[in-house]
Amino acid sequence: APGPLAEVVGAGVPVPLVTGGTVPYANLDYAASAPALRAVADHVATALPLYSSVHRGAGYASAVSTAAYEAARACIGDFVGARSGVDGEHVVVVTRNTTDALNLLASAVAGPTLHLDVEHHANLVPWQLRGARAVTAAPTLAGTLAALEAELAATRPALLTVTGASNVTGEVLPLATLAELAHRHGARIAVDGAQLVPHRRVDVAALGIDYLAFSGHKLYAPFGAGVLVGRRDWLDAAPPYLAGGGAVRRVTLDGTTWADAPARHEAGTPNVLGALALAAACRTIAALPAGAVQAHEEALLERLDAGLRGLDGVRPLTLWAGSGEDVERIGVVTFTVDGYPAELVAQYLSAEHGIGVRDGRFCAHPLLDRLASGATAVRASLGLGSSAADVDRLLGALRSLLERGPGWTYAGPDGDHLP
Ligand code: PMP
Repeated sequence: APGPLAEVVGAGVPVPLVTGGTVPYANLDYAASAPALRAVADHVATALPLYSSVHRGAGYASAVSTAAYEAARACIGDFVGARSGVDGEHVVVVTRNTTDALNLLASAVAGPTLHLDVEHHANLVPWQLRGARAVTAAPTLAGTLAALEAELAATRPALLTVTGASNVTGEVLPLATLAELAHRHGARIAVDGAQLVPHRRVDVAALGIDYLAFSGHKLYAPFGAGVLVGRRDWLDAAPPYLAGGGAVRRVTLDGTTWADAPARHEAGTPNVLGALALAAACRTIAALPAGAVQAHEEALLERLDAGLRGLDGVRPLTLWAGSGEDVERIGVVTFTVDGYPAELVAQYLSAEHGIGVRDGRFCAHPLLDRLASGATAVRASLGLGSSAADVDRLLGALRSLLERGPGWTYAGPDGDHLP
């Protein structure tokens, strides 16, 4: 039975149970924020002593920090196959997270855009705010591609923006096919890689992806840094995303000339440690044997799928799984349990079993409206530190819950679900 593929910090910390005593924490919430890799934590500790302002100070620590920051940028770009050199084809802008990266792209896009209704809010509301309407995903993947193609042909948008993998169903979109489709109709393609990048090798040049956004905190680095990797021309032509020091070439009291990307969109003191941590995560994952991440997660996902199938009333949410098409999935499974509110299930798993999952609508309200009639659901998600034992604990806990019978609840003093 598979154990963890890499060491993460905080694995197995003792968590108190409502029934008394403690158990080692079982983290099945990697899709929200993954624990930091041990190698990332160690790298951050070595970087802290020589920590100073980048791009400005003249001291030794500033020089070291500046070099480390720019090396981190290059490393992150390499990790996702960014092409630099000729015309600086892709640039790597350090942002706060995926949401920030997609908002930056929305501020720079040169024309109308197209997105699907299955997106995380981060890849939905920035476009909706600018008047874009979502294309409805069809009950089959092939049908969804056809719907997108029809819309691309009819409306000729400047940009198609899609998620790489759904944060709700874990289903992976065929990015090379979508890139070809977009380009054939004169559009560029942006990918919300928040969920895909931690689980699959993504090579933007090989796939034909023009823009890719992802977050460090889902890629085994601490909170606070993400990136937008993307083609230079729109980013250089756009107004600075934030105005301030660092983004400028020259300022007089009459006006400002702006630097090119990435500096143009990185006003203010950047998150140097965040970028270093993200680069350390990229390096650590890149050093794992080819295919190991996918194989590890697929073995665990199969175990989870098989176990859930054996539990009456547990219903995984899927977009296309019922269509008979071969749809790839990452280690993210969202389900409802007949007769048990999602909030109760999640509280029970934590309080009685020390298992961390997420419940709710996962910042994807339109998708949950479709798949669960607007109800909330429970999400279990896997990563490098996950093991078969974590999956088995979840399955065992759900089995015990079902034995209590529908309608069971904690007799909270306020009548709520909280123990
Ligand atoms: N897109 C997807 C698919 C996500 O799962 C998330 C995080 N839940 C985001 C975007 C937003 O990421 P962040 O909160 O790091 O900006």
